[in-house]
Amino acid sequence: MFAGHVGAALAIGRVERRVNPGAFVFAALLLDVVLWIFILLGLETVAIPGNFAATHQPEFVFPYSHGLLAATAWSLLAGIAAFLWYPHLGAAKLRAAAVAGLAVFSHWLLDALVHAPGLPLAGESSAKVGLGLWQTMPIALVIEAFIALAGLWLFLAGAKLSRGKKVWLSVLVLATLVFTIAGMTVAPPPPSATAMASSSLATLAIVCFLAGWFGKRAT
Ligand SMILES: [Zn+2]
Repeated sequence: MFAGHVGAALAIGRVERRVNPGAFVFAALLLDVVLWIFILLGLETVAIPGNFAATHQPEFVFPYSHGLLAATAWSLLAGIAAFLWYPHLGAAKLRAAAVAGLAVFSHWLLDALVHAPGLPLAGESSAKVGLGLWQTMPIALVIEAFIALAGLWLFLAGAKLSRGKKVWLSVLVLATLVFTIAGMTVAPPPPSATAMASSSLATLAIVCFLAGWFGKRAT
């Protein structure tokens, strides 16, 4: 899931408009940022199964980025980071911290919706969960598109952004949606785990940067 995380971040961004939505997009994608870095470091793994052309679902071993316990810890860390990062928010710091933590945790919830049961509760040997909506890909993609577009709409309604920035932010969300749909339907298997990790990290960085740029409100 990719566009759905961006949509969740934008919906959450509406709750605290003084924080740049790029920060929430980064928070909502943080578990994947951690995943791809850990794959490059050899701490977690991704394998391309033989039926990838039919399922488009790589197989992950990812207890430190996508385990429930780990996701909770990353959410808490993000909350603490936001609390320290936004001193100018005064009393609203605590709320910004809670919302940033929620953005990180929303990733786990949405992944648990679509992934086959493979997200561990704690370590790799613990019980694994996942509702497996990706087994019915068209429904999964319709739901993801709905989350992405609803999040965009919620954020844009009442946002203090120029018309141009609203258009560009919409283009960005639509681009992530096209990227997601292509990735889950027609994309060829990635050549290697390293290539997959590097290109994913680059894509995540670009999307966070552009969301921060287009979403930065006029002061
Ligand atoms: Zn994920």
